[in-house]
Amino acid sequence: MNIGLFGGSFDPIHRGHLALAQAAAERYELKQVLFVPANVSPHKQKQALTPFVHRYAMVALATEEQRHFIPSLLEAPAELRSASTGQRPVATKSVATSAPSYSIDTVRLLKQTLKKADRLYFLIGIDAFREIAKWREAKALLAECAFVVASRPGFSLKDVAESLPEGVRPPAAVTKPFQKQAASGDLVLPGLTLHLLEGVQQNVSATTIREAAAQGKPLGRWLEPRVADYIRKMGLYRQEKGNRNP
Ligand code: ATP
Repeated sequence: MNIGLFGGSFDPIHRGHLALAQAAAERYELKQVLFVPANVSPHKQKQALTPFVHRYAMVALATEEQRHFIPSLLEAPAELRSASTGQRPVATKSVATSAPSYSIDTVRLLKQTLKKADRLYFLIGIDAFREIAKWREAKALLAECAFVVASRPGFSLKDVAESLPEGVRPPAAVTKPFQKQAASGDLVLPGLTLHLLEGVQQNVSATTIREAAAQGKPLGRWLEPRVADYIRKMGLYRQEKGNRNP
């Protein structure tokens, strides 16, 4: 079975995330996509995240109607770990305490629960992927699972290849011709496989949504209605600074 792992701060989850997951699920026949909200994102330690429970609740609401989209507690804080026993078998454990949750730990833990025939795909947007070389044990992570990178206009396989950590990054002479190609395709190098998925990126970010919510603007065009309702009910993002922990 092909399984997707999609991590993020999901603060909040929006239509861009859902579009990426749906496109990847269709293209790579993913039977499950695990949405894994980060406990403390190692990539966003300067930004105060909304408490995990709210981000998880929004993921659960947004994915309610897609049976193959599964909210995951893999990176849930320790106090929520016991709550994870009600989940489907593939996501019964969690990694993090209050420490940042690193993708390599999450992937390794998840793989312990998978069958030999299962194939794991790591879903990620091109913006996040461009930082991959700075991630903990980036080379090991790239070797653990296939990557599906959601592209956006102006990006090519060359950008993807150039973002790879030293040691696995192909020489410029190899990647230069990629620039002229469409923003899709596969890059198969010794020990790693990258798939570039085109036409997925939507013009929405969680930052825009938080800012709009802080100003009391309508959020409907960026979010699932249930998520917009939840934000309103719980008073999330009312002030962009200071009140992120209601
Ligand atoms: P923020 O604005 O707070 O930085 P974000 O909207 O980028 O948040 P994240 O939760 O940080 O959302 O992103 C999780 C993953 O989803 C990342 O791999 C990111 O590249 C990808 N992603 C974010 N926005 C989009 C989008 N509009 N379309 C496709 N992928 C996206």
